[in-house]
Amino acid sequence: MPLKLQHAVKSTMLPALLDRYGRIFNYARIALNERCNLRCTYCMPEEGVDFQPPEKLLSKNEVSRLVRVLAAAGVNKIRFTGGEPTLRKDLPELIATSLHTPGVDQVFLTTNGLLLHRVADQLKRAGLTGLNISLDSLHADRFKKITRRAGLEQTLDNIKLALAKGFDSVKINVVVMRGFNDDEIKQFSELTRDNKVTVRFIEFMPFDAKQLWCEGDYLMRAKDIVAKLHGLYDGLMADKGSETEHHHYRIKGYQGAVAVIPAFTRSLCRNCNRIRITADGQLRNCLYSGTDYDLRGLMRRDASDEQLLFQIRAAVGAKAIDGVEARERSTSKIAVSRISMTQIGG
Ligand code: SAM
Ligand code: SF4
Repeated sequence: MPLKLQHAVKSTMLPALLDRYGRIFNYARIALNERCNLRCTYCMPEEGVDFQPPEKLLSKNEVSRLVRVLAAAGVNKIRFTGGEPTLRKDLPELIATSLHTPGVDQVFLTTNGLLLHRVADQLKRAGLTGLNISLDSLHADRFKKITRRAGLEQTLDNIKLALAKGFDSVKINVVVMRGFNDDEIKQFSELTRDNKVTVRFIEFMPFDAKQLWCEGDYLMRAKDIVAKLHGLYDGLMADKGSETEHHHYRIKGYQGAVAVIPAFTRSLCRNCNRIRITADGQLRNCLYSGTDYDLRGLMRRDASDEQLLFQIRAAVGAKAIDGVEARERSTSKIAVSRISMTQIGG
C-alpha cells in the first residue's frame, strides 16, 4: 500500500512501546503464513487446520509497512515465523526490506528447516541474522511420528548448511515431551560439542489443535530439564542467553550452548519484550492471550501510520502481567479461535 506521506511515521525517535509494568517491547514475531509442509502432532492435525485464504493474509507490502511502523516505535528485532515461512516466495525480499528499515538491527527466522537448502543462499544474501531450526528427535522413526513426514536427514543436512553459511546465530528448537524424546537430551546437547549452535529445550505448550495435551503427561517442566542437564554434565556453566532463554549454559570445552525455555511454566514473563503478529495481521500481546488487535483491517481501511501505532500501543497497554493471567482472561476465546501455533504464529 503506498504511503500517505502526510501521515507516515518518519521519526525513529517516537516513544517506545511500554506497558504498565514497565516492560519495553522491542521484538516483533511476525507469522508469514499458516500453512506448513509438516504436520507436527503437537501443532496441527493431519488434515491441517482451517487455513485462511491467501487474501486474508498480510501481503508483502503490509508486512513491510508494519515493520516500519513498529521500528519507528523502537522495535529493533524482527522474527519471521509461521506456519512455515520458507514456503513464502517473498521471504528473502521481506528480510532485506526489514533490514533496510531504519531502526531494525536484526532479522531472524524460525523454520522447520526442511526447505533450507533451496533458499539458504538467498537468505544469506538478504542479510538474515540467524535462524532457529525446529527439530524434536534425532531418530528417523520418531521424527516421522512427530512430524507425520519423513525428513530427518534433510533437516540435519540443512542445520549443517546453516552453520556453514556463517549466519550470526543458529539455534535448534527442541520441544521436550516426556516419554517421547526426553531420553534425547544428552544426544541433542552433544551437538554443541563441535558446533557453534545453541540447543534450546522448550516446554511443551497446550497449543495443539487436537489437545493431545489433555491425553498424556507430556509436559517436562523446565526445572526437570535443567536438573537432567546438571545430572548429565558436571561442567555446566550458567551464562546469559536471550530474554526467553531463562536457563542458558555452556558445557565445559564445548563450542555451543544449551538453553531451557519455560514456555509453559511462564517464569520468563517479567522479561517479556515481544509482540506477535499473526499471518492474518492480528496483534497478540501474549502467546496465551485470546485477544486479537486487528492491524490488517486498519491497513485495509486506509488507516494512517499513527492510527496503526495507536492500536499497537493499546494492545501493549492492555498486556497481562504474565501468560497465566493472559490465559485466565482468554481461555474461552482460545478454545473457539486459534487452536494451533500456526494460527498464532510460533
Ligand atoms: N514451522 C516453523 C517451525 O516449526 O519452526 C515455525 C512455526 S512453529 C509454530 C514455531 C515453533 O513453535 C516451533 O519451534 C515449534 O516446535 C513450536 N511449537 C509448536 N507447537 C508447540 C507446542 N504445542 N508446544 C511447544 N512448542 C510448540
Ligand atoms: Fe509446521 Fe512448525 Fe507446526 Fe511443525 S511446528 S507443523 S513445522 S508450523
